[in-house]
Amino acid sequence: MEAGLISGKTKVCGIIGDPIEHTMSPVMHNAAFRKLGLDYVYLAFPVRREELDKAVAGVRALNIRGLNVTIPHKVAIIPFLDKLDPLAEKIGAINTIVNEDGVLTGYNTDATGFLRALLERGIKPEGKKAVILGAGGAARAISFILAERGASMVILNRHSARAEDLARRIVQFSPEEVKALALNKENLKKTLAKADILINTTSLGMVPVVDETLVPAELLTKRLIVFDIIYNPVKTRLLREAETAGAQTINGLDMLVWQGALAFEKWTGRKAPFEVMKSEAIKALEHEN
Ligand code: NAP
Repeated sequence: MEAGLISGKTKVCGIIGDPIEHTMSPVMHNAAFRKLGLDYVYLAFPVRREELDKAVAGVRALNIRGLNVTIPHKVAIIPFLDKLDPLAEKIGAINTIVNEDGVLTGYNTDATGFLRALLERGIKPEGKKAVILGAGGAARAISFILAERGASMVILNRHSARAEDLARRIVQFSPEEVKALALNKENLKKTLAKADILINTTSLGMVPVVDETLVPAELLTKRLIVFDIIYNPVKTRLLREAETAGAQTINGLDMLVWQGALAFEKWTGRKAPFEVMKSEAIKALEHEN
């Protein structure tokens, strides 16, 4: 098969969400298929919430090999699947589906992609004290994988009740300390003084509000690892100020590419060409901005 040509045997993967036009997944995955000469294609499908059951029926009927699932379907799609990977079950949200002869299994590679981005830099979560900003979907995936890997954590959220809900869920699976607090300067000061790693999972600092940050610069020190999962811009104000303070910084691009790479490996059984996927994502981001 000539790489890139669509044939009668081409396997189909894709992403569903609403909205979906700005996704970077098609360029990453199609470049990876071409690089390895795989007879696969990856498409973006806009799917409205009320059509989700029909979309999943379509995956079975059309024998689509795999899907990524993004906002707003990561939780709502679960009842339509046949199986859940144990980590995805704990998290209660998925972003990847593998179709094995009509049996659909859900996985959460946001969580494992985040972990991989840390591990690739030699950072092991075991015994670390994490401060997590935000209590939305991404925070949920990240806090569960950190708990599973033996980190303790404080979750700070603007609406503190959401942080408390999340902490209550995680505590059931974690022997380590899991606390929830309101997101304000006083609590940031108190928790960052003892933290090893700060993770921003909120959307604050994302385009178009790139000049905002939740963390006053004077609270950032060189002892901290600062991970901002926002990937647009690649360097947020938080990361710029963390760099100035001498902290180790990690941006959201590696997490984005790893979640894709891990999904790719489940669909194809092949090692994903991470660097190819990353450079395509960077090109797509430059084109977008
Ligand atoms: P979400 O479920 O909507 O959660 C958003 C979170 O941000 C909530 O905790 C919300 O707080 C907080 N927030 C929003 N605006 C805020 C503000 N002005 N001040 C303080 N807190 C604010 O979204 P999500 O799916 O978790 O995604 C969050 C971010 O992560 C997005 O930027 C997304 O692009 C990024 N992300 C990156 C990756 C990756 O692979 N790198 C993967 C997933 C997500 P409240 O609860 O108080 O409203």
